[in-house]
Amino acid sequence: MEKLFLLAAVMLAMTPAYIRTVAAAPHPRVTVLATGGTIAGRGASPSDVTAYRAGVIGVDEMLAVVPEIQGVADVTGEQLCNIDSKDMNDELWQRLVVRVNELLTRDDVDGLVITHGTDTMEETAFLLSLTVDSKKTVVLTGAMLPATAQDADGPRNLVDAVRVAAAPEAAGKGVLVVMNGEIYAAKEAAKLHTTGVAAFTSPDAGPLGHIGAGGAVFDREPRCHKHPTFTFETPLPRVDILYGHEGDDGVLVEAAFRAGARGIVYAGLGNGSIPVETEKRLAKAAAAGVIVVRASRINGGAVVPADPSYTAAGFIDSGALNPQKARVLLRLALANTGDRGEIQKMFQE
Ligand code: ASP
Repeated sequence: MEKLFLLAAVMLAMTPAYIRTVAAAPHPRVTVLATGGTIAGRGASPSDVTAYRAGVIGVDEMLAVVPEIQGVADVTGEQLCNIDSKDMNDELWQRLVVRVNELLTRDDVDGLVITHGTDTMEETAFLLSLTVDSKKTVVLTGAMLPATAQDADGPRNLVDAVRVAAAPEAAGKGVLVVMNGEIYAAKEAAKLHTTGVAAFTSPDAGPLGHIGAGGAVFDREPRCHKHPTFTFETPLPRVDILYGHEGDDGVLVEAAFRAGARGIVYAGLGNGSIPVETEKRLAKAAAAGVIVVRASRINGGAVVPADPSYTAAGFIDSGALNPQKARVLLRLALANTGDRGEIQKMFQE
């Protein structure tokens, strides 16, 4: 018997340290912070996939549907709000940013999953990527079909998101979005389908990785790691998005100005092109101190310098940011500085 103990002790001493560490590694602890959306939606019947109500089911009920999730991590649920994400607003954003930062500083939280409606998920994900500074992983997920639908995609998305939040490989990659088996960087994720479960993509870049049989698999790094980190303070300045189109005469520029917009994102044509009448009005607004960002209504490619008159008027190029993300960055930037040059640099980063 003694010999057996001795043999076991020798074998343990000879086991490489990394194997011992893995064997002893505690189960990761992941908090699921629920905000609503279709993943928490309820329809009248299993075939009701469009006329359902989003933001109805609570986090405990969502977790109870996927008991296997506790095999991936020790998962705790918390309800921040329960809304359709079309109604996301600054007050809820502030509560979310504060709570996320609190949770991430805790020793008993290794990663965070935020369940969220898909309609504004890319904006909230990008906002968090600009206001949260942590090596721990934050993952947003949701669903395109309500929880009551026959083929509800929420349960799988939720388990996948927890897998990613618990994966050591995800740490340091910034805020992520996990939908339909794919992993996206917050800055790159975009919703490009109104109803299908494969609604998200990253135009130009593709996903960062996917959920394989063994868990999260990363194929590449996010294109941009180096964001400024802003403190979120309400009220955030008003920034309006104006959408370019044939025959645009720019009268809405004045409406935005009168409404008190400190910034205007123009979702321009092609490479951020602006019809001539609208350009005149935007240049006037810029001269009066409004920060104008040229974005694009096209879902691929970056907005890069074009007509010298845009530069002369002081317009800023949105780069790879789509209009809704450019608006998030511009609001945070304006809350911190009124300096056009500094804001321009933030967009270049
Ligand atoms: N309207 C829903 C929401 O954004 C859509 C969804 O979650 O897919 O809350």
